[in-house]
Amino acid sequence: MRAYDFTRPGAVDVALRDARDGSAYLAGGTTLVDLMKLEVMTPSRVVDINRLPLRGISVDRDGLHIGALERMSDVARHDDVRSRYPMISQALELSASPQLRNMASMGGNLLQRTRCSYFRDLSTPCNKRTPGSGCAAVAGHNRMHAVLGTSDACVAAHASDVAVPLVALDAQVHLTGRDGPRTVPIGEFYQLPEQTPHIENQLRAGELVTGLTVPPLPWASRSAYLKIRDRQSYEFALTSVAIALDVGGGVIRDARVAAGGVGSRPWRLPAVEQALVGRPATAETYEAAAARATDGARPLTHNAFKPALLRRTLVRALTGLGEIR
Ligand SMILES: Cc1cc2nc3c(=O)[nH]c(=O)nc-3n(C[C@H](O)[C@H](O)[C@H](O)COP(=O)(O)OP(=O)(O)OC[C@H]3O[C@@H](n4cnc5c(N)ncnc54)[C@H](O)[C@@H]3O)c2cc1C
Ligand code: SF4
Repeated sequence: MRAYDFTRPGAVDVALRDARDGSAYLAGGTTLVDLMKLEVMTPSRVVDINRLPLRGISVDRDGLHIGALERMSDVARHDDVRSRYPMISQALELSASPQLRNMASMGGNLLQRTRCSYFRDLSTPCNKRTPGSGCAAVAGHNRMHAVLGTSDACVAAHASDVAVPLVALDAQVHLTGRDGPRTVPIGEFYQLPEQTPHIENQLRAGELVTGLTVPPLPWASRSAYLKIRDRQSYEFALTSVAIALDVGGGVIRDARVAAGGVGSRPWRLPAVEQALVGRPATAETYEAAAARATDGARPLTHNAFKPALLRRTLVRALTGLGEIR
């Protein structure tokens, strides 16, 4: 690990002042320290933000508010999160391990880097780590990689589980920087890789994520997160889906659907939503809707199974939700 300065400010304005070019904020450290040890991230200064007042989980008429420093485990087991937005709670419970969830923050989870193994291996080319160096994954081992929203420059999958239900629910990400606070819809927060895969989101230099707001959606109490992975614990998604369904009289009145493990960012599926709404909650409807999930997919050598797996994941999750009375 390279040498670095360290500060632990107690106020947001001091943290923003402390952050200079080449700094990194430290929350739980479960991604940052890992990547610093590998020398994939080499900040010249680490600004520990754990003393900042970025905590709190509350509900009011604007929705659910979550501070950026709330730990994943605390959010997962919060009563309001469990009852109002089960898919958020489930996505968190299915992430990483209990120890990691106790340490890792919501802000850090949204900003974690890809798990592409070439990104973490300094001996291989990677446009995300070293712009312009090439992409080892395109012709390499790409079983875990994305099939939606990729480019010739990068085919990495977005790693965060909880970002998937947050995208389905149109959550807002609150940011603050030296120019003051601003809010970005999470659907616009993550960028496609195109020719600049090293630019992953809208965060400006030195900006902090301060929190999240999930708008009210009463029927999201009927929602679920289904994650398919190689092992039943401690593993990233091959595919995952976050679905909320509003069903009445056997008909789907409204739907929110997003997928993980398959996209270069958490992937909203509007064509699937449209194919569900107004239709009977039946197996035929689920199959027809799931068929729309992989429009535009670009499978690679080792992940050609992902489009079919995503469709099956969707049908399974829809069937489970459709049967809830
Ligand atoms: C073995 C392993 C398995 C895992 N499995 C999963 C999984 O299945 N699903 C999943 O979703 N995740 C998984 N993770 C990722 C884990 O959830 C993340 O490492 C964690 O959420 C990051 O949070 P943190 O607070 O530790 O972030 P940190 O490591 O502290 O920071 C991560 C990044 O975000 C920046 N940052 C942090 N907070 C802020 C802020 N408020 N404002 C601005 N920048 C900030 C940091 O500078 C850094 O670049 C796994 C991690 C490991 C190590
Ligand atoms: S897929 Fe993206 S992260 Fe992985 S090697 Fe290629 S450029 Fe790097």
